[in-house]
Amino acid sequence: MSLKKVLIVNKTFPKAGLDLLKNKVETTVLPYLDYQPEMLPEIKKNLAGSHALIWNTKHRLNKELLDLAGPQLEAITTMASGVDHIDVAEVAKRGIPLGNTPDCLNNAVADITVGLMIAAARGFKPGIQEVERGEWKYGVQWKLSRHINGTTVGIVGLGGIGQAVVRRLKGFDVGKFVYSGRTDKPEAKALGVERVPIDQLLKESDYVLLCCPLTQETKHLINRETLKLMKDTSVIVNIGRGDIIDHEALYDALKEGRIFAAGLDVTSPEPISKDHPLVSLPNCLIIPHLGSATADTRDAMAKLSSQNILQAFEGKPMAYPNIVPSIL
Ligand code: NAP
Repeated sequence: MSLKKVLIVNKTFPKAGLDLLKNKVETTVLPYLDYQPEMLPEIKKNLAGSHALIWNTKHRLNKELLDLAGPQLEAITTMASGVDHIDVAEVAKRGIPLGNTPDCLNNAVADITVGLMIAAARGFKPGIQEVERGEWKYGVQWKLSRHINGTTVGIVGLGGIGQAVVRRLKGFDVGKFVYSGRTDKPEAKALGVERVPIDQLLKESDYVLLCCPLTQETKHLINRETLKLMKDTSVIVNIGRGDIIDHEALYDALKEGRIFAAGLDVTSPEPISKDHPLVSLPNCLIIPHLGSATADTRDAMAKLSSQNILQAFEGKPMAYPNIVPSIL
């Protein structure tokens, strides 16, 4: 009996995930990276006849690509928690199971979130720049920044990552934790986090942490109007997706000192150009989507991707079936 065909579209899929597939399926790994211009045309050429796709790329999996894959396609997984690069409605219409790889990345991304909070609030970027320029001018009023103890921390999206962030911040003597989201989270009570409307969260929080998916509802959730609600001393951190923030509005707010600082793991587009106005701001710290980038986390994500596909092939529910309903 011939083996089912699994197409892995980005060449950086870890060996830990490949090993799980060995001898069970026929695997094709395309030799491209996301930012190579030939990648998308090559994916298109290689889709036909696949029984499963491991969609470890930022390129959007849409109707055109699903049509190219053909009617035998029976399983799709991301190697990510977010599924904003998949036309989820189109996949659902075809009855194809779709999986993702959350949970195993919570700790790594929560570490980065707390790192960005501290780095942005304590002015690491302008501090490093001034050291590098030989402009270290110690004085008791030099480079005053914001601390965490006693503050209100607002988490937009108290999911796996948001909860891991709260657990980490328990040692920081935070004054109050609040969160916003579409539903009450049963874990919130034990974590000591109160659910509030988003406007209240933005008004009250000293730290606004964006830990939600990119959906129709969250696209440009942070915009000119909502930025006006925030304190001029507040710090915003985004580990969700770049498009949750209107970057032009964020630039103006940071430039005019209407908020204190931003720490971004995600931007729109990615990679962000070195000439982008946000990159020029000392109070905007940007790192290149490092959230889940630890070796162990990426191995765990790859294994989950493979498990999702193997379970679907066996007719079982995926280890992590995607459950986010309203995606762009
Ligand atoms: P998750 O466990 O599914 O949690 C997502 C949370 O967001 C849920 O609690 C959900 O609440 C909430 N949410 C949905 N719509 C919302 C809205 N309109 N306003 C506020 N909250 C909303 O996902 P996760 O693993 O924590 O990941 C969250 C997102 O982080 C991913 O979708 C992805 O975009 C991003 N991410 C980034 C990195 C990185 O490397 N930077 C890595 C992993 C993930 P409800 O259940 O009430 O809808």
